[in-house]
Amino acid sequence: MPAITNHMPTKELQALDAAHHIHPFTDANELAESGARIITRAEGVTLTDSEGNQIMDAMSGLWCVNIGYGRQELVDAAARQMQELPFYNTFFMTSHVPVIALSAKLAELAPGTLNHVFYSSSGSEANDTNIRIVRHYWASKGKPEKTVMIARKNGYHGSTLGGGSLGGMAPMHSQGVPVIPGIVHIDQPHWWNEGGDMTPEEFGLERARQLEAKILELGEDNVAAFIGEPIQGAGGVVIPPSTYWPEIQRICDKYEILLIADEVICGFGRTGSWFGSQTMGIRPDIMTIAKGLTSGYIPMGGSLVSDEIANTLAAAGDFNHGYTYSGHPVAAAVALENLRILQEEKLVERVHDDVGPYLAKQWATLLDHPLVGEANSVGLMGTLALTPGKAKRAKFAGKEGAVGLRCRTRCFANGLVMRHVGDRMIIAPPLVITHAEIDTLVERARKSLDETYEGLL
Ligand code: PLP
Repeated sequence: MPAITNHMPTKELQALDAAHHIHPFTDANELAESGARIITRAEGVTLTDSEGNQIMDAMSGLWCVNIGYGRQELVDAAARQMQELPFYNTFFMTSHVPVIALSAKLAELAPGTLNHVFYSSSGSEANDTNIRIVRHYWASKGKPEKTVMIARKNGYHGSTLGGGSLGGMAPMHSQGVPVIPGIVHIDQPHWWNEGGDMTPEEFGLERARQLEAKILELGEDNVAAFIGEPIQGAGGVVIPPSTYWPEIQRICDKYEILLIADEVICGFGRTGSWFGSQTMGIRPDIMTIAKGLTSGYIPMGGSLVSDEIANTLAAAGDFNHGYTYSGHPVAAAVALENLRILQEEKLVERVHDDVGPYLAKQWATLLDHPLVGEANSVGLMGTLALTPGKAKRAKFAGKEGAVGLRCRTRCFANGLVMRHVGDRMIIAPPLVITHAEIDTLVERARKSLDETYEGLL
């Protein structure tokens, strides 16, 4: 077989890829037909593909490349750590300097008493860990019957059996991820799709109060925790009404239910605060972290837990849980360098004070487009609802998502990665994006919307 390199013709790379590589969340038949887009390089907010096309990545990879592509400092941090100590585990009373330094740093950055981290290599694993932590915590407090976790339909918490069960993605549940016992779902706070005649504020309260109703139905002595993304990402950048999270917090406090904020997307500056929980004004007992922790340069995730939880687990003795790569030294070194850059370059403040408001202003100009019914953003997470009738928040006739897919295809052709969730278009660009790049993003989005619209006439 010839050496497989960037110089191989795209068609040959695509054929090998389709023959041997099973892709996540991909239709294998479509892949075999059209071939994968092969990305060869990236710098700042721009990808280059194997045909030499330059594409602006308005999704930060998969919502993770917060500091942008091509940062040599992270490469150097990884290389230094690989030379010094490429691996050692954190099981059985051992530790190493990168994981000690990272844990102390995360404790400094995280709100409240979230001073303790259990590491994994992904958001999915971290949410699986959360199931273990929550159940062990309540059992250790003498309340072993408190096991049920309440999550939300259309939430996303990963692809493992635990993460997929906590998630509320029906297409996943129907494909071999039956919801594991002890997890139940309530409705999401998605006003545009489900709000009917209610105002967003009324709807936010109604949806939050489903949590109370569910706790009362199950019995508060049986309910362990509620989990939610501060802003649902994979579900379509669902920005909840302002009334939603304060009411969820009140209910969790009232019934002694742990609140888990899944910060895998919202964490590390995405919403203009270090964590989405701060933007939404909530006080979680546990936060799930991953993605922006290392800006995606290397896999790492974790569960940040409160003093109360950590002390309870400690008092209970051995916690029989762990991953070979929990606190991997190279991942920890990269995460530390990533956090240093986020802090020293004031990227979180930049999202809050500068590029977040600028994106909001430019993004809102799309609202005059005949296809766009809603154009909202928080920090650097943006969403557009495509609709054939704005006043009634109407849905397109035909298969849901067909128009969104068409728009995504036009975006690619116009040099922009914008994702679609059904007929909703979403963005989450790197936090280093400039004003000029935001202008280009919005211009390309408008051109793609125009072409999508023309195709519908
Ligand atoms: N939680 C949230 C909110 C996510 O968006 C994701 C991934 O997109 C996950 C968990 C799962 O993370 P991973 O893909 O690293 O397992």
